[in-house]
Amino acid sequence: MTTLFANTVRCAACGDSTEVVVVGSTNTIGAPDLDTRMPGMARGTLVHQVQRCPGCGYCARDLAKLLPGAQTGVIEEDYREQLDDPVLPDKSCEFLCLARLQAGAGKPDDAFWSTLSAAWVADDEEDDEAAVHCRLLAVSAMRMARAAGKPPGREAGIGDAIEVDLLRRAGEFDEALRCARRALARPCQEVVERVLRLGMDLAEQQDRSAHSVSEALNDPE
Ligand SMILES: [Zn+2]
Repeated sequence: MTTLFANTVRCAACGDSTEVVVVGSTNTIGAPDLDTRMPGMARGTLVHQVQRCPGCGYCARDLAKLLPGAQTGVIEEDYREQLDDPVLPDKSCEFLCLARLQAGAGKPDDAFWSTLSAAWVADDEEDDEAAVHCRLLAVSAMRMARAAGKPPGREAGIGDAIEVDLLRRAGEFDEALRCARRALARPCQEVVERVLRLGMDLAEQQDRSAHSVSEALNDPE
């Protein structure tokens, strides 16, 4: 089961104290989605994985810790606009603000994962337009992380498999197919290859829904 507890933290950016909810423990029984989203009760903890200071607007995984450059980052106009973007769910805005600060702190791979979380929030809110918007931002964040030499995903092809899923679920089927073909031309583990092939099949069917890695593993080829 998931255990949550309330905690009072001092914002590392402005010094204000605020109450946050912290995840004590949770579970992830089963296989993740093709974009690595964990199954089980862990899904429900997503909204607690980013904290927002009501005083200065600092968004962080842990408000008590200061990301380098965050104190100036939170007063930038682009940051303020992102924080209060009326067309996105509040928690998506917080994850995108966090991503902005992480990118500024030289952590483009972390920025990618935060951007992906913004899309998952939109999925949970059943806000399809916001989910597509966030997925396309995540594709850009993925490419920036790669260009910086910090590709998301530890093993060969995992980043590509996530990118294929992001493009497919954003309705960019042709680009998803191109990305999958490019990735399959390079060596990767069998499990990654199966995920890429499932991604191609789904893109060919113009299927935009979420699918599990277990479907790729159970496919008797
Ligand atoms: Zn603050």
